[in-house]
Amino acid sequence: MKSAAIREAFIRYFENQAHTQVASSSLVPGNDPTLLFTNAGMVQFKDAFLGREKRGYVRAVSSQRCVRAGGKHNDLENVGYTARHHTFFEMLGNFSFGDYFKHDAIKFAWEFLTSPEWMAIPAEKLWVTVYAEDEEAYQIWNEQMGVPAERMVRIGDNKGEKYASDNFWSMGDTGPCGPCTEIFYDHGADVAGGPPGSPDEDGDRYIEIWNNVFMQFNRDADGTMTPLPAPSVDTGMGLERISAVMQGVHSNYEIDLFQNLIKATAAVLNVSDTEHTSLRVIADHIRSCAFLVSDGVIPSNEGRGYVLRRIIRRAARHGNKLGAEAAFFYKLVAPLAVEMGEAYPELVTRQAQIEKVLLQEEEQFAKTLDQGMKILEQDLQGLNGTQIPGDTVFRLYDTYGFPVDLTADIAREQGLSLDMDGFEQAMNAQRERARSASNFKVDLSSELNIDGETEFCGYQNLAEEGAVVALLQDGQ
Ligand code: ATP
Ligand code: MG
Ligand code: MG
Ligand code: MG
Repeated sequence: MKSAAIREAFIRYFENQAHTQVASSSLVPGNDPTLLFTNAGMVQFKDAFLGREKRGYVRAVSSQRCVRAGGKHNDLENVGYTARHHTFFEMLGNFSFGDYFKHDAIKFAWEFLTSPEWMAIPAEKLWVTVYAEDEEAYQIWNEQMGVPAERMVRIGDNKGEKYASDNFWSMGDTGPCGPCTEIFYDHGADVAGGPPGSPDEDGDRYIEIWNNVFMQFNRDADGTMTPLPAPSVDTGMGLERISAVMQGVHSNYEIDLFQNLIKATAAVLNVSDTEHTSLRVIADHIRSCAFLVSDGVIPSNEGRGYVLRRIIRRAARHGNKLGAEAAFFYKLVAPLAVEMGEAYPELVTRQAQIEKVLLQEEEQFAKTLDQGMKILEQDLQGLNGTQIPGDTVFRLYDTYGFPVDLTADIAREQGLSLDMDGFEQAMNAQRERARSASNFKVDLSSELNIDGETEFCGYQNLAEEGAVVALLQDGQ
């Protein structure tokens, strides 16, 4: 079953259950300036859940484009390392605004996954977690859906352990919150990893496919939880993960959509080993970058634009690793539009514009990428220990336009880490120099352009530099 058909089936199933189909909203949240990107299906419904907005329906279904590459959910570092995380993915979701609650949500999820008319997944391949204190959800799964205790895990009782999953969701420090129940698929003994709630749950054997959140309480400023008069349901299932299950493959990167993108990437780069991790990373990154540009984000030195810049530069670096000699990333917009243009026609109508933005960023970075890589290789040869010195990290950042996370990505591939304290010292020293220089009205741009033969392509002014450092510090 192709991923496009699964998306359709999900919408159809919930339409049959009286849900109204709602189109995906933009990756740039319209109603929440504190949120970097839309990272879940519920984002566009926040006000409906809070009761601030009345809609013409109490049940909704959507396939929402999501980016998790910054802010609260950041999966950028997972890409290339797990079989299940992307910077961009689609979240299938059904929502109840004060209408149905636990029983129907669980029944719908179970029926969609296991009924022969729908996904027909063998029940014994599915595991379920519930919040430790949510006896009601446990009973519904166990007694009414017939999921045996051996494949159910109560999560929350192992809080404080390093591996504890969290099955209690909250919108913020105050406001709606409540228990979750998550459905996992067992990819079988030939894949490494333990069941949910166990110390090796982070492997790729038991993969979380669907999260059902029960908004049951309102938490006020002193932590008191009062039951909501009309509890709600918010769910999310990763389209790529359910596609892997339905296509009998153990990695999201092996599903139809990704295989086509990976092949296109290999062709553009003239690479024959289609298993190469860098191809997966690039195929992941073209999706987030193309959709972000399509939603109006452009590469810059702060906020959303800086996240976009970092992803494009990472893709360029992986291309460089595979021997790319010229700009290539922008050429992947066309195959992406072939794969996803039917569901997202804006990819087709904005194709030329997206290509232009990506090409420009690639060309700008190309000027310094090669030189920066040479500097780094030289430094690595003389390296004592396992940390890349802060001065090197800073020089790459400041003179060669290497975002710090890009250098960290290279370091990690070689089992190294970065001296971040040293980096910050170098950054502060630079700021001091710039400040005293500006007291004498010295031209800042020449001060920043340390190496005459390279073009500065980091931050453009000191205010932005501060923003970039803040961004790195809070992990956005
Ligand atoms: P995980 O524990 O695997 O990181 P999660 O618990 O962070 O997932 P949720 O926030 O519960 O994920 O999101 C709902 C669903 O969205 C998940 O069950 C999964 O199917 C999908 N999903 C979440 N993050 C990603 C991602 N980075 N790439 C692809 N799918 C994702
Ligand atoms: Mg996660
Ligand atoms: Mg999880
Ligand atoms: Mg989850």
